Amino acid sequence: MAYTIDEIVDLLNLEDFREVYLEADRIRKENVGDIVHIRALLEFSNYCKRRCKYCGLNCTNKSVKRYRMSPEEIISTTYEAAVNGYKTIVLQSGEDNYYTPKILGEIVKSIKKLNMDITLCCGELDYDSYAYLKECGADRYLLKHETAQNELYEYLHPCGTLQERIQCLKIIKKLGYETGGGFMVGLPNQTTKTIAMDLMLLKEIGCDMAGIGTFISHPNTLLKDCEHGSTEMTKRAVALARIMMPSINLPATTSLGVINDKEKVDIFSCGANVIMQKITPNEYKALYEIYPSNLAETNIRLQRIKLENQIKELNRIPL
Ligand code: SF4
Repeated sequence: MAYTIDEIVDLLNLEDFREVYLEADRIRKENVGDIVHIRALLEFSNYCKRRCKYCGLNCTNKSVKRYRMSPEEIISTTYEAAVNGYKTIVLQSGEDNYYTPKILGEIVKSIKKLNMDITLCCGELDYDSYAYLKECGADRYLLKHETAQNELYEYLHPCGTLQERIQCLKIIKKLGYETGGGFMVGLPNQTTKTIAMDLMLLKEIGCDMAGIGTFISHPNTLLKDCEHGSTEMTKRAVALARIMMPSINLPATTSLGVINDKEKVDIFSCGANVIMQKITPNEYKALYEIYPSNLAETNIRLQRIKLENQIKELNRIPL
C-alpha cells in the first residue's frame, strides 16, 4: 500500500485503530504466513566510541563496566544456540574498533560452518568493510536509523549525520545483505509526522526487516528525565509497516516487553513475525544496557523451549 505522509499521520492519529490492526494481521498472514522466526541475539561487546544521547552504552557513561567476548567465546556460545535449534545468530555490539573487519570476518566464517544465518549489528562501517563481511558469509545487516527527522537525528547523535546513516543503509542494500532498518517511537520532540517519515524511509531504502521499538529512557544518559514512549503508538507503527511493506520481517522488539509483557505478545497480532532471544552469557548480559531491561537468566536450551511454547500458544509456528 502506498500512503502519503499525511495519510500515515491521519492513520496514526485514529481514535479507533482496531480495523487497521486486523488489516495488518491479514496482510501478515497472506504474505509471510504464521511462522515466527526466532533469532538468537548475542551482545558480544559493550564498548562503543559513539555518544548517542539515549543510549546507556555511550562512551561518556563511565559507570558501565565494559566487556568484550573473545572470538572463541562468541563461536562456542553460537554453537550452543545452533544445537538448541536456533537457525540465525544476531551478533550485536557497540561501535568497537577492536573487532576489525578481519577479526569479525573470521568469526563469521567459523559460524557459517555451523550452518547458521548471520545478522551483524555492529554500526557504521565503510564500503570495503561491509563488502568484506558479506564475502565472509554474513547474510543480514541491521542498522536502525532511529529517526528520519534531520534535526532530531543530529540532536540525538553528536557523532554522525542522518545522511551518513542512510548512505550506509544504501550500501548494505546494494551489497545484497538482507537489510534491517528501524526507529524508536516516543523520542522527545517526535511527532506523528516524524513517525510517518520513518516509515517512508524504511520503504524508500527497501528494508527487508525493521526493528520498531519504544523509546525507554536510561538513568545514566542526558535523556534520563524523558518519559518512555507509547506502546500503543509503537504497535500502530508496526501495523502500518506491515501494510506498507507486506513481506518485511518485523520483530517484536524487547523494549515493548520492558514496559509491559502483554504488549510484546500483542504485537504478534499487529503484524510482527520475528522475535529475538538474548543468549548473551549471564556474566555480560546486565552490562549490555542500551536501555534498562528485565533480564531473565540465560539458559539457551530452556529459553528456546519456553519461547517455542509461547509462540504455539498464539497459534503461530516457531522456526
Ligand atoms: S546506540 Fe549504538 S552507536 Fe549509539 S552509543 Fe549506543 S551502542 Fe553506541
